[in-house]
Amino acid sequence: MKNQASRIAIAIVGAGPGGLLLARMLHRASLSVTVFEREADARVRPQGGTLDLHEDGGLRALAEAGLMKEFKRIARPEDQGNKLYNRHGDLLFDEPGSEHGGRPEVDRSALREMLLDAIPVAKVRWGQAVSGAEPLDDGRWRLLLDDGRRASEAFDLVVGADGAGSRLRPLLSTYPLQYSGLTLLEFGIDDVDARHPEVAALVGRGKMMVHGDGRALIAQRNGNAHIRVYAVFRVPADWAGRRFDLYRPERVQAQLLEEFTGFAPSIQALIRASNGFYVPRPIHALPVGHRWAHRKGLTLIGDAAHLMSPFGGEGVNAALLDAAILGRALADTAAAALDWDAAVARSEEEMFERVIEAASGSADAAAEQLSHDGEALALEHLMQHQAQRLQPAPAHA
Ligand SMILES: Cc1cc2nc3c(=O)[nH]c(=O)nc-3n(C[C@H](O)[C@H](O)[C@H](O)COP(=O)(O)OP(=O)(O)OC[C@H]3O[C@@H](n4cnc5c(N)ncnc54)[C@H](O)[C@@H]3O)c2cc1C
Repeated sequence: MKNQASRIAIAIVGAGPGGLLLARMLHRASLSVTVFEREADARVRPQGGTLDLHEDGGLRALAEAGLMKEFKRIARPEDQGNKLYNRHGDLLFDEPGSEHGGRPEVDRSALREMLLDAIPVAKVRWGQAVSGAEPLDDGRWRLLLDDGRRASEAFDLVVGADGAGSRLRPLLSTYPLQYSGLTLLEFGIDDVDARHPEVAALVGRGKMMVHGDGRALIAQRNGNAHIRVYAVFRVPADWAGRRFDLYRPERVQAQLLEEFTGFAPSIQALIRASNGFYVPRPIHALPVGHRWAHRKGLTLIGDAAHLMSPFGGEGVNAALLDAAILGRALADTAAAALDWDAAVARSEEEMFERVIEAASGSADAAAEQLSHDGEALALEHLMQHQAQRLQPAPAHA
């Protein structure tokens, strides 16, 4: 009887997109699920930039979880445009945003709120940073917490959805993260339409990029007239902390302008409009084809399983789809009283194969960033993607 998913206790570590979508799937199937999240509450920090969901990725997953109606309320289909400039400020490529592109944007915070609204509040235990898990004699697992305590109950299945620095991954895989050679310095521009109309026009309804002199600026329009900017450098992983006075942010703007000397004033305007909050992000990834030998009662989804560079724009799509597929497998085995552990093993195998293409594309995209012909490659990709983006909107109900 214990082999039936309807009778097992499931813990999800991490209330990111992957963990919350899985919780929604399990809750919908009336399975017992508890989410452990290290952040103190749902709104403790802004969840980061805008994400575009793909038809065969995030959109398929949301449809599977019965959340398309809710998603349409928060999606920004009009913000799918793309612009590429050179360092002199000349526009090389311009695809205006269109409501009919197949990859609607959504703010990460709005996505998280939508997913939280789709499960009972009590399913998430906030402020519970998990440091690992220990196997018990009866085959179940007990979660270990960062403060030295243990979670009070034991779980039959623990799903690590705890992102890039997963604390559960070492129980399944010995692979360390690999530094991509790229570091982003992220900053924001607030109230752009009213306060910086020239920057609003430069970025347009979507994303803009400019490459030159071995650096790049990528800016994305988010909701609430906010623009998020990433300055991209190919440097050692600890470079940003040495180059920029991150503890004295009032100095960073001038340091960034030094890095982008020789760029047109119209491009430097992005840096001048900064709101003064800077976050360095060295970009890491797991090896393409990362996998592990199945271990009963423990699995990983999303970035914890297959962290990839963000340059492919695939990470959240893969995380949502992992969750939908695992959630569906557990729901189906519960309904048919089948072996849940075999279903988890099959989901892992499916995930390992499915993400190879996205991980490999993301690794290539990271390798091409800031290469000697980065601008030409970016132009080529934009033209290829333009054809895809003009596909009709997905038919998910
Ligand atoms: C700068 C940047 C830009 C990106 N842009 C895009 C994009 O445009 N498109 C795209 O598809 N992807 C993008 N990504 C990737 C995308 O953010 C991830 O792939 C996606 O968020 C993965 O979802 P997840 O649920 O697996 O993990 P996460 O979103 O990382 O969520 C993990 C959750 O687990 C919690 N957690 C972590 N450790 C613990 C612990 N020990 N105990 C308890 N809780 C814990 C975290 O607080 C978090 O809530 C980007 C990433 C970066 C860094």
